Amino acid sequence: MQLPQVSIVVPLYNEEETFPFLVERLNKLMDESNISLEVVMVNDGSRDRTPELMLANALNDERYHCVFLSRNFGHQLALTAGLSVARGTEALMCIDGDLQDPPELLTEFYRIYKEGSDVVYAIRKNRKEGRVLKFMQHSYYRLVQRISNIEMQLDSGDFALLSRRMVDVMNKMPEESRYLRGMRSWVGFKQTGYEYNRPERIAGNTKYSVAMMFRIAFNGIFNFSEIPIRFISNLGIVTILIALGYFVYTLFKKFVLDIPVVEGFTGLMFTIILFSGVQLLSLGIIGEYVLRIFFQVKQRPLFVIKNRIVNKEIIEH
Ligand code: UDP
Ligand code: MG
Repeated sequence: MQLPQVSIVVPLYNEEETFPFLVERLNKLMDESNISLEVVMVNDGSRDRTPELMLANALNDERYHCVFLSRNFGHQLALTAGLSVARGTEALMCIDGDLQDPPELLTEFYRIYKEGSDVVYAIRKNRKEGRVLKFMQHSYYRLVQRISNIEMQLDSGDFALLSRRMVDVMNKMPEESRYLRGMRSWVGFKQTGYEYNRPERIAGNTKYSVAMMFRIAFNGIFNFSEIPIRFISNLGIVTILIALGYFVYTLFKKFVLDIPVVEGFTGLMFTIILFSGVQLLSLGIIGEYVLRIFFQVKQRPLFVIKNRIVNKEIIEH
């Protein structure tokens, strides 16, 4: 059997309402496209009729490749599962099952990929969410951008086309709390953004609770940044400086300005502030070691090679 050029990976969690629309759009795309395609559907432990619908559809159409997870693992892990089994030889595209990520953009993404980008990611031009959520998401992306050690792509979700070599590297990153869009930035290569208007969910309700949104937001910060731990050390140093400043100020008051100071009180304040600072700094130092352990246990590859030149020949990796 010939392997498809591109796999479309779709995680599904309780999507029985959207399923018929999804299949209709995907079938149309596959019928009309001149790229050979497969669809990898991942059932993320749905409690509705999604798995039955997937089964019936896949038994009828060999272009559908289905994965059934044993329970609900969450969107990021469902996508990871899909990426690990997808057979696309050239590229893989991640989309949501609710048609908020129009599959038809594949044609355009594939064209940009062919021009030499390893990642073509979608940038949401208009967000349809409420004002507060929009503001939070906007600020969040900018915060992560500022504090993380990698270049984050603003206003972009997991909707993207990834080259085969990109996915091969991501599959070799065994970290447990996954933040795929961060991982894809971490891997590097050439990444191109593509602006689009994000439509509303076609049917059903969002499967992301606010708690899940926060969890994934924290993953974005803590998996890619040591700033929170460094912050403790810095706080400790600042506190110690304040204690010393207080000490100097008291001496100044007593000997230069000749203002009487309350002896016991000053000593007590000085000691409390100083040792609060020392404790914070100590925590920060322990944190530095934890940080190193943390990044080591992730077992990420140390580097990713793009290509090499050997004997006057360019070898792509
Ligand atoms: N999803 C999943 N597992 C989950 C939650 C969501 O596989 O635990 C899927 C869901 O079926 C959809 C995609 O992830 O295909 C995005 O979810 P949703 O549209 O609910 O998120 P939103 O667009 O509201 O952020
Ligand atoms: Mg959605």
